Amino acid sequence: MDSILQCMRCRKTYPIDQVIYACESCGGLLDVAHDLDALKRTVTRATFDSRLGTLDAPYNSGVWRYKELIAPYLRDDQIISRPEGNTNLYNVPKLAKWAGVERLYLKHEGENPTGSFKDRGMTGGVTQARLLGMTRVACASTGNTSASLAAYAAWSGMQGIVLMQNKQIAQGKLSQSIAYGATCIRVDGDFDKNLELVKELSATADIYMLNSINPFRLEGQKSIMFEAVQQLRWNAPDWIVVPGGNLGNSSSFGKALWEMRELGLIDRLPRLAIIQAEGANPLYRAYLTEFEDYQPVHAETIATAIKIGNPVNYPKAVRALEWTSGVVEQVTDQQTMEAKALIDAQGIGCEPASGCTLAGIKKLVEGGIIAPNETVVGLLTGHVLKDPDVTIAYHEDAIPDIHPVHPNRIFTADASIGSIVAILNGDANSVTHL
Ligand SMILES: *Cc1c(COP(=O)(O)O)cnc(C)c1O
Ligand SMILES: [Zn+2]
Repeated sequence: MDSILQCMRCRKTYPIDQVIYACESCGGLLDVAHDLDALKRTVTRATFDSRLGTLDAPYNSGVWRYKELIAPYLRDDQIISRPEGNTNLYNVPKLAKWAGVERLYLKHEGENPTGSFKDRGMTGGVTQARLLGMTRVACASTGNTSASLAAYAAWSGMQGIVLMQNKQIAQGKLSQSIAYGATCIRVDGDFDKNLELVKELSATADIYMLNSINPFRLEGQKSIMFEAVQQLRWNAPDWIVVPGGNLGNSSSFGKALWEMRELGLIDRLPRLAIIQAEGANPLYRAYLTEFEDYQPVHAETIATAIKIGNPVNYPKAVRALEWTSGVVEQVTDQQTMEAKALIDAQGIGCEPASGCTLAGIKKLVEGGIIAPNETVVGLLTGHVLKDPDVTIAYHEDAIPDIHPVHPNRIFTADASIGSIVAILNGDANSVTHL
């Protein structure tokens, strides 16, 4: 059996080269399903270890190193790659102590070509677009998907089309979409509205939709788990902690972990913890009802990357939680920004949504869900330069309702050595170092 598209609800299958975004029978979300029995016989840990450090495309990519687990049907020359992935897994003992665990690793997906994990999905999505003969690709986005789509469209010679919200787009992300030459359309509506419009657009025009409802993007994002586990010498951690917005990432993590165990690449499943912002928490609310009751919410949070009220991948995220005995937690913007400031002050840095990860870990430890002796891998999803305005405003204490616990205020000196030395001899060290 080759790879196919399969409805996660009614199991109906479709050929891999059909342009389709949801099941024609029941409207369910589609998975790219691989022949795991065949893969079991052909791939081992050694397959992927042997490709580490290669200079040759496509295996120099941290996505395509795992090509057999993502798109085994592709020829190497069909792949559109920057290359992406190969992101660091930082051992962060000081942040571990702050959060209350002995071993914490942060995988920094902000180290991808356009500064977020979206590149890992976009390489899969744009590759599929070209395979299907498409020349135009589109998405609605809180910012990072647009930035990534714009870059990959340009790189592959396609037209990129991005629908953006009329407010609250982080400057870094907006500037990327413009710079990479995408057709940028500002729409008077929030993310959820824009997503509806892109769906309509792709149904009526010859435009390939690359939102995270697109299963080929999720296949690429699985590589975050493959790579993290390989970096841990194939030892599965106890916990994977990730911020949740549209829930594409968490969905792909569930599939990746489940497949890795099926293939014998890991011998036990880590537990998944999805962290939402309190103001954009439909998954968390549903979790409290054991997924009996799901209601979209009106989303409000400073972490714009996860400001999503009606996540399209909700059913897949629930499945991921079931597979991994996962949990959902929520954090306030205050907690998110404090955690971000601590990550930043380690010299690593991340965008606000990524702060949820560390804030969530601390909360789960305090709540007795994560045990102090468990090994935790947390995801940093985006680069510190994505949202410079928020970072500066935080340190200047200029964000309403958020109090900077770790401000690094800028001093002002006369243009004289004396004035500068006076500052350095004074209480210059305003940052709380851990
Ligand atoms: C897209 C994004 C998220 C949310 O990921 P989902 O897959 O939508 O849940 C979180 N952080 C950053 C930086 C993002 O770009
Ligand atoms: Zn179906």
